[in-house]
Amino acid sequence: MKDRISLTIDGKLVDVKRGSTVLDAANELGIYIPQLCKDPRQKPLGACRTCIVQIEGRSGYPASCATLARDGMVVHTDTPEVLRLRRGVIELTLAMHQDKPHEKYGQQECELEVAARAHSADSDRFKRILRTSLDDSNPFFVIDMQLCILCGRCIVACQDIQHIGAIAFIHRGFDTKVGTFADHPLIKSVSTNCGQCVSACPTGAIRPKEQHGIVTKEVTSVCPYCGVGCGVKLQIDEEHQIIVNSLDSPSNPSSQGMLCVKGRFGFGYVNNPQRLKTPLIKRNGKFEPATWDEALDLVANKLVQYRGQFAAFGSAKATNEDNYILQKFVRGVMGTNNIDHCQRLCHSSSVDALIAATGGGATTNSYADFERAGCLMIVGSDPSSNHPVIDARLRRTLDCPEVKIIVVNPKFVADCYYADLWLQHKPGTDIALFNGLARIILDEDLWDHDFVATRTENFEMWRLSLVPYTPDRVSEITGVTVDRLRQAAHWYARPPRTGSCILWGMGISQHTIGVKNASALVNLALLTGQIGKPGSGLAPLRGQNNVQGCADSGAIPQFLPGYLPIAGTVVDDFSRAWGLPLSEIRGLTLTEMVESMYRGEIKAAYLMGENPLLTDPNLNHAREAFSRLEFQVSQDIFLTETAAMADVVLPAASFAEKDGTFTNSERRVQRVRKAIEPLQESKPDWQIIRDVARRVCAKLGIETRQFDYSHPSEIFAEMASLMPQYAGITYDRLESGGIQWPCPTLGHPGTPLLFEESFTRGLSRFEVTEQGPPSVELPDAEYPLLLNTGRILYHWHGGTITQKIDELQGMVPELIVSVNPVDAEARGIRTDDRVRLRSRRGDIVAKALVTHDVRQGEVFLPFVAFGDNAANFLTNDVYDPQSRIPEYKICAVEMARVT
Ligand code: SF4
Repeated sequence: MKDRISLTIDGKLVDVKRGSTVLDAANELGIYIPQLCKDPRQKPLGACRTCIVQIEGRSGYPASCATLARDGMVVHTDTPEVLRLRRGVIELTLAMHQDKPHEKYGQQECELEVAARAHSADSDRFKRILRTSLDDSNPFFVIDMQLCILCGRCIVACQDIQHIGAIAFIHRGFDTKVGTFADHPLIKSVSTNCGQCVSACPTGAIRPKEQHGIVTKEVTSVCPYCGVGCGVKLQIDEEHQIIVNSLDSPSNPSSQGMLCVKGRFGFGYVNNPQRLKTPLIKRNGKFEPATWDEALDLVANKLVQYRGQFAAFGSAKATNEDNYILQKFVRGVMGTNNIDHCQRLCHSSSVDALIAATGGGATTNSYADFERAGCLMIVGSDPSSNHPVIDARLRRTLDCPEVKIIVVNPKFVADCYYADLWLQHKPGTDIALFNGLARIILDEDLWDHDFVATRTENFEMWRLSLVPYTPDRVSEITGVTVDRLRQAAHWYARPPRTGSCILWGMGISQHTIGVKNASALVNLALLTGQIGKPGSGLAPLRGQNNVQGCADSGAIPQFLPGYLPIAGTVVDDFSRAWGLPLSEIRGLTLTEMVESMYRGEIKAAYLMGENPLLTDPNLNHAREAFSRLEFQVSQDIFLTETAAMADVVLPAASFAEKDGTFTNSERRVQRVRKAIEPLQESKPDWQIIRDVARRVCAKLGIETRQFDYSHPSEIFAEMASLMPQYAGITYDRLESGGIQWPCPTLGHPGTPLLFEESFTRGLSRFEVTEQGPPSVELPDAEYPLLLNTGRILYHWHGGTITQKIDELQGMVPELIVSVNPVDAEARGIRTDDRVRLRSRRGDIVAKALVTHDVRQGEVFLPFVAFGDNAANFLTNDVYDPQSRIPEYKICAVEMARVT
C-alpha cells in the first residue's frame, strides 16, 4: 500500500500522508476552512461542524476534520451550498458568543470572529444565549462563559494533553458550561494552572488575567526554570522591551507544546523593579552605585591578590557559554580548579554512581522512552511539583492500561493517585529496598542472563553481597510488605511491554549515603538489562534548567569541559588550546568551598547567579563562612541573600536578555535567544566574565586574546572544538531545533538513547552497596521528628525568582510545614496554626498543614525561604563522603505551636 495519497480540493491536486484528514489536506494547500473545535495538535472532535465540505460521489456535508482523505477524492470547500450551510453553523455559534471586545491568547484574533467575517455571517440572526458565569478564582486566567462556544478544545487540552482532567462540560442544555467537579471554583479543583486550556481556547473565553504591552515580535527560547527544558515562544513588546506572553512551543520535542504554570506565567521577574540595574560597590557597609569601569577595576585589582585562595560558583541558571567562560577564567587565570555549581547540592551523588557504573553521568534515555516503557519506577521524586511537563508525559501512559507505574517514596506525592503500586518505605532505607528487589529478581530468575554475561562486570561479588537481603528482612527494615516488594520486582524486571525506566529525584541523592543509594538503583537496571534499549533507562531528573549543561561546560571541580579528566595529555591539550597554564590539583566542591571559607583558607569568592545563603544546609554556619571572606563578588539579577554580603555586585542579564544554549535533562542542547535588551546597565554573564578576565589577565601579564569573544556563538564553537560530546553541534544546526549529545560530527543527528551497544567504560559495573544507618542524625527524645525537604509547584527552589511574581507568590505566600495528624494532635496543633520548628542548628516559624501525606514521626518543608524562615536553617551540614552532597532529606527536629 502506498504511503501517500493524492486528492483534489477546489480543483487543486494535493499529495498527503495516508491517514490524513480532508482538513489536513486543505490546510496543506492553504485553503481556509474554519476549524473552531480542532486543536492543530489534537485528534478531531467533529463537534463544531464549521469545517463542513462537499465530496463528489458522497451525500451530505461531512466535517472535513473527521473525514479521512482517500486517493482520488474530489472535494469542494466553497460551493454556494457549503458556504450557506457553514454560514448558518457559524451564526448559530455566534449566538453563544457575546458581542464584546476580546482576543484570544497570544493577542491573536478570535477564531470565531475570523470565520464570521470570512463567511459574512450575521451575528444577530439568532437570539443570543446569555451565559454570565465567570471563574476568576485563580490568579493566572479566567474562564468566561460569555465568550465560550462549547467547542471542547480546553477540555481536550486538560484531559488529553496534560492528562489532568480538571475541567469538563457540566450541566445540560442552555446551562452547559466549562466547569470543574461539583462546579467548584477552579482554584479548589485539581487544576495545576498550567494554562494548556488557555493555549487551546479559540475565542479568548479562557484567557490570562494580565497581559501588559502590545506584541510585536515572537522569539523562540527555553523556559528558565526546571531541567525539563520546555520550549517557549516569548511574545515581546519591542517598544517597552517587555515580555507580554510566554507561549508553548508545539514543535519542541522535549515539551511537545506543553508548559507548566511557571513556564507559562512565571516570566514577570524579568521586568521586576527589584532587578539589579547598575554595578554596586559596598563602602562603609553600604552599597553605592558604581560605573562598570569602577566595579570591574576593583574586582580585577582584588582578584589578582587572591590567586590560590579563590573559589567560584557557576550557575545552572546561566547558559553553557556563561559557565564555560567562567571555568576557563578560574582554571586558566586564577590558577585553581575550585569551580562548582548547584549540581553538587542536587544530583552529584547520582552522577558519581552513574559514572562508576557506566562511565557517563547523564540521563541514559529520552523523555520519549518514558512514554514507550511498560513499567515506570518513580523513586524519591515528585515530578508533579518539580518536573511538571515530564509528569504530563508520564501520565500519557495511563492511556495504556497494561503499563505499570510504581512510586517509591516515603511521602505521598501526586503520582501516587494514579500509580499501580506505592512503596512507602521508611526514610533512609533505600539501599535495603533496592537490594531486596534485586534479590527477588535473582531468586525468581527474572534477570537478564545474557545482558549480565555480556555487558557487565563484578556481578558475582555483588550477587554475594545480596545474601542478607531476604524479602522478610528487607520488609522489616523498610516497612514495605513482601507482597509489594515481589510485585514491584516482577513488574520492573518483566514489564508488560517494551522496557522499564527508573526516574529518580533528590529523595535518593540528597543523603550522606547518596552515591550508594543511586548505585543500588543502577544495579537494578544492569541486572534486568533495562538500559540501552527503547523504553528503558536511568533518569536522574535534573533540577535547574541548565544543570546538565553547566556540568557539561566544566563548571565542576573534578572534570574539564566534556567530563575530561584533569590529568596528563588532556590538561596539555586544554592548556595549548587556551594558551593558559592549568593546574592538575583537584578543585574543591561547592560544599568544601564553604568549609574552606569557614576555616579562612578560601579568602575570595566569585558567585555567578548562585545564592548559597538560601540553598546551603545549616544556613547559620554558611553565613558565618561567607562573612569570613575577605572579598566577595556576586553577579546576579537580584540582590539575593548572598549578594547582600558581597563587596561588589554586578548586574547580570536574565535568560530573556541574552543569547546562548541550555542543555536539558535529556541531554538536549537548545538555543536560548535574546528577546529583549538587558535591563538598564545589566549585561550577559559571559560578557561580564570576559571583561573581568581581560582585566585580570592584563594585570598578570597574560595575553587577553583568550577572552576576545564578541558573541556567545564564538564561545560555543570553542567548546565544541574541545568537548567530544558537543563536537558536531553548531549554532547554525541548533536553528532548526535542539540536538541531544553525544553528537560527535557535523552530520550526526544526536543520540536519544545512550549505551545501545556499549558503555562509556566498556562494560558496566555492579557496585556493592550495603544498607547502613539511614542518617547521621536521627530523631531522639529532644528532637523526635524527622524533617524531609523538597520543592513545590508554585515556587522555584529557594523562591528568589518566583517570589517576585505576584501570581505565584499569591498561590503560596508563606512557609507551610506538613505534619501527620497524630503528631499534630500530640502537640495541640491544627491546620493554619503557626508553629516553631527547632533543630540543633536553628529554628524557624511556619504554618501547619495537618495531612496524611506524611507518615507519623515525619514533617515536610519546602526549600522556599520566607525571610528568615527557611528549611535550611534546620538542615544538617553533613555530606556524602564521595560526592560531598549534603543530607537535605533527613535531620531531627521538634515542633511546637506558637502561642
Ligand atoms: Fe519550565 Fe520545567 Fe515547567 Fe517546563 S516543566 S515549563 S521547563 S518549569
